[in-house]
Amino acid sequence: MELLNGKDWELLISNIDNFLFDCDGVLWEGNTIIPGGVEAITYLKSRNKRIFFVTNNSTKSRVEYVKKFTTLGYPVEFEQIICTAFATGYYMKNVLNFEGKAYLMGRPGFKQELNELGINTSKVGPDLTSGELDAWSSIPLDPDITGVIVGFDEYFNYKKMTLAATYLSDPNCKFIATNEDNILPTGTKVILPGSGSLLEAVKFVSQREPVVIGKPHSPIFECLKSMANIDQDRTVMVGDRLGTDIAFGNRNGLKTVLTLSGVTSREQLDKELAKPASECKPKFYTNSLQTLTKEM
Ligand code: PLP
Ligand code: CA
Repeated sequence: MELLNGKDWELLISNIDNFLFDCDGVLWEGNTIIPGGVEAITYLKSRNKRIFFVTNNSTKSRVEYVKKFTTLGYPVEFEQIICTAFATGYYMKNVLNFEGKAYLMGRPGFKQELNELGINTSKVGPDLTSGELDAWSSIPLDPDITGVIVGFDEYFNYKKMTLAATYLSDPNCKFIATNEDNILPTGTKVILPGSGSLLEAVKFVSQREPVVIGKPHSPIFECLKSMANIDQDRTVMVGDRLGTDIAFGNRNGLKTVLTLSGVTSREQLDKELAKPASECKPKFYTNSLQTLTKEM
């Protein structure tokens, strides 16, 4: 594993056609831009490189992502966005040939993306029917549901878990999850549970294993490949999380760059590197995209 400086980056760029960027922790932190990000993307664009943004975050549609990128000053086109909302819709439509209706735990943007791809879903948002537990054993079910999708849903609750588990008790009901990130990045002491934590609850109550769409799993890579011809030897994944971004790059035979501008500390990286065998060791690392653009 090598520390990447601006000169190495320039050399790497000359041998790479496709750049895959994780978003949170690499390009921005929440709604704050990470310095050097726009310069790095703009430079790669001027070199006619193919760029994709590959994020596990299921809360937004591609249209909403275009708005976010543009607001932060990143040059972007709709086709460059490979978010889990899109990759889930792609998988359901093209791999599962899904028909019927999915019970969806997610945000409105996720529902919008799925619906636009032709996947019918339940409504999303608060579902806080009150009532004593006794009444819940006769909770009304939607007879059209043939799949359950778990993404990020801050309105996750007991009722939604009950419905998901009940639908999943039919072995023909499909079970799909966007990602397994256990927490959301916050930059504060507060721990915000991520989709992976909600997913664990649904897995436990249903005693079923989902197909997981996002990094490090293959469905999001298949979705990416449907958008472009990817020569793995000439593709790099740049990300801030070892278990998702770096494992994703390594599993798919890509070059990998870890940025220390997000959730992984230098100490965590050293711990990973000390392990005899791990799929989470990056080929290169750098402090942030700014380090690369500044030193070029
Ligand atoms: N899921 C949610 C709900 C998030 O808010 C985030 C980051 O903000 C992520 C996943 C991780 O996203 P990424 O893959 O871009 O780091
Ligand atoms: Ca990230």
